[in-house]
Amino acid sequence: MKFGKLTRHYRVDHPAKFRLRDYDPADTDGLDINKDEAKAMLADSVARLSELQEKLYAQDRWSVLIVFQAMDAAGKDGVIKHVMSGINPQGCQVHAFKQPSAEELDHDFLWRTAKALPERGRIGIFNRSHYEEVLVVRAHPELLERQHLPEQLAGKNIWERRFESIREFERHLARNGTLVLKFFLNVSKEEQRKRFLARLEEPAKRWKFSMGDVAERKLWDTYMGAYEDMIRATSRKEAPWYVVPADNKWFTRLTVAAAIVKALDELDLSYPKIAGAPAAELEKVRQALLAEAPPAKPAKKAAEKKKKPVRAGGKKPVTDSASGA
Ligand code: ATP
Ligand code: MG
Repeated sequence: MKFGKLTRHYRVDHPAKFRLRDYDPADTDGLDINKDEAKAMLADSVARLSELQEKLYAQDRWSVLIVFQAMDAAGKDGVIKHVMSGINPQGCQVHAFKQPSAEELDHDFLWRTAKALPERGRIGIFNRSHYEEVLVVRAHPELLERQHLPEQLAGKNIWERRFESIREFERHLARNGTLVLKFFLNVSKEEQRKRFLARLEEPAKRWKFSMGDVAERKLWDTYMGAYEDMIRATSRKEAPWYVVPADNKWFTRLTVAAAIVKALDELDLSYPKIAGAPAAELEKVRQALLAEAPPAKPAKKAAEKKKKPVRAGGKKPVTDSASGA
């Protein structure tokens, strides 16, 4: 599929030259497909992702950290829900970062991030992340004050220092077997306006509306400046940013799914191979289990058994199809 090219297109490989205005939030890369086609394409990627995740888990060598950052209503929650829908919940952890607690404020800004990292063999999803520390905290100086840093460490160059800390932190993770992928869902201010309106006008969406989101919208330009700086400073080969157009939800989901599949594919994952003595041991166990099989019953008796009525309240037999496999 041409999605390989597509994801390269949105990955920021030349951060020094990165300008947010070069990235159109409404872009669909010329892809003109209907809803059903988009659904089918997404289902393909999700199935692929599910296979890759099984291998990741079985191999137990790599872990994957996926970061989502965006303005409100850009569709983070929808992306997480749809793209990860095929993944075995046991192999995946989603962590939503909210305002830091008093305990978290008493530590360095990466402390809570480190605690939430995925274990080997698993995929960790950050719904917001340590990057809030150079976004919302930058847009609201009072949040930085709450962190109680020594004055001489909270001067003008604090953001540059934080970028440096983040780069080093992510490089360290990469060196220790974590694949780090970061997605900025790039929604336009106009599309956000429409989505906020829909939240107010449609009863089923009203719960999503928050007054705080409107306050952040007023700081749009400040945020865009902070995002641009952040991506320039922290998109690196070992932990790239993808700037994903987010005005069309179907396209956002396809692009994110394709990027994750591609990156996991490149890890060359495989099921652990069992050979030599352990394989011989397994073969012995297999033979023993075969030998334990009960003697075959005469065909007539087996047929009678099938006809027995099911007890009231008795469980339905579980078949492969009933378990949803
Ligand atoms: P949704 O609204 O879709 O449930 P959300 O991510 O917007 O998801 P909220 O509980 O509405 O969740 O908001 C979390 C808030 O916490 C955001 O305003 C975010 O900016 C803030 N936050 C996250 N990390 C930090 C941080 N390190 N410092 C200060 N504020 C933070
Ligand atoms: Mg919110």
